[in-house]
Amino acid sequence: MLLTARYVLPVSSSHIEDGAVLVRGDRIVAVGTRAELTAAHPDEPVRDFGLAVLMPGFVDLHTHLEYSVFRGAVDDVPYTAWKMQVQQKEQRLSSQDWQDSAVLGAMEAIGSGITTVADITTSGNSLVAAKDAGLAGVFYREVSTMDKSKVAGRIAHATEDIDAWQAKAAGSPIEVGIAPHSPYTCHPTLFRAAADLAISKNLPAAIHLAGSQDEYDFVRYGSSALAQDFREQSGWSDVAWLPTGVSPVRYVLQWGLFEVPRLLAVHCVHVDESDIVALAEHGVSIAHCPRCNAKLGMGIAPLRQFFEHGLTVGIGTDSPASNNTVDPFDEMRIGLLLQRGVSNEHDFYRYFTARTFIRLATIWGARALGLEDEIGSLEVGKRADIIAIDLSTSPHMVPTADPYSALVHAANQKDVGMTMVAGRILFDAGEYMSVDKQRALARARESRVKLRS
Ligand SMILES: [Zn+2]
Repeated sequence: MLLTARYVLPVSSSHIEDGAVLVRGDRIVAVGTRAELTAAHPDEPVRDFGLAVLMPGFVDLHTHLEYSVFRGAVDDVPYTAWKMQVQQKEQRLSSQDWQDSAVLGAMEAIGSGITTVADITTSGNSLVAAKDAGLAGVFYREVSTMDKSKVAGRIAHATEDIDAWQAKAAGSPIEVGIAPHSPYTCHPTLFRAAADLAISKNLPAAIHLAGSQDEYDFVRYGSSALAQDFREQSGWSDVAWLPTGVSPVRYVLQWGLFEVPRLLAVHCVHVDESDIVALAEHGVSIAHCPRCNAKLGMGIAPLRQFFEHGLTVGIGTDSPASNNTVDPFDEMRIGLLLQRGVSNEHDFYRYFTARTFIRLATIWGARALGLEDEIGSLEVGKRADIIAIDLSTSPHMVPTADPYSALVHAANQKDVGMTMVAGRILFDAGEYMSVDKQRALARARESRVKLRS
């Protein structure tokens, strides 16, 4: 099928006016002008999107699909209070509630133009929902415990799950990894054990790292609510915790996790120059979650320094539990504006442009997952993960001068007209082809009743 539109943004090269993308099976076969491709393939069926942008699907570099039903359940509190209140409410949901919550998350992602997610999950609900919906992604099996005596058991259980998930994902564009949750929920030997497992099974790994000031104070000084109330609530008050005297990044580095070749560090807000150098030296990629970080008072990650040290950075939403919509456009716009707000003119022109943020949300996210040869741009041979964004219907999109600035400074998730993963259309003109929308919305409302204070 030949997809055509006013603008085609390959991302890896300049945009094409009156462009076209030829898709055969699950692959991109040609990218060029409409005139060139229709002349070369005169019998090919054409789908014209008119005044629209065709571009690679977004990579949501950090999310938890199964937490979607927590949207708005805990708002307007800072990070640690948020974490504790979410944890308290988690027990109220049945396993079916969690599964259906993940379906809601997959549905919102697809409707927002996201084609690949990097999702951290303990249950595997996210993986099941994504696979059923046709969404691609990397699903990291979360492990956590502060109790050293439980580390071996946690790893054994995770290994069983990872084998089962890999079997379940066979034949789909889904990969399985491992994720020790964070420095404040993992005994340090769990980092070493997770690294060994990742290396021996060639798995990608992920960790929430240096997200909040409380986490920094917990690791360095042994203080903050994460050392007191949170540990008590988690049942770890009998487990000793002493100040380490180092930053969260240095601490995790000491325990071997950075030896994993494909490691994704989520947040990395509270990092200094030497932390950033260590992350760069070990080839750690960063999932930057600007809106979640701002909303929960975690801070603003030092994006300029990440760029200067050559780190690979992409953008994550961190799920509706914290953020409250899965909207890559909001993420790009707010992320860009926050950085401009704390930068100077030189940085502005050098780093903080709409084009840069489009790359962060696509090809850089793909690179962060080690998938840049497969997804992240419209190039011949890559998987046909393509989205269309309408520039003609909504008042807020008219008139349009530059497609990059329209996407970052004006568009939102409702402007996505079509989402295709591996050549299969999953969302088209408001209709979901692979998810029962009415059921997903009804189930979310039912589950939500259980989460009211
Ligand atoms: Zn997260």
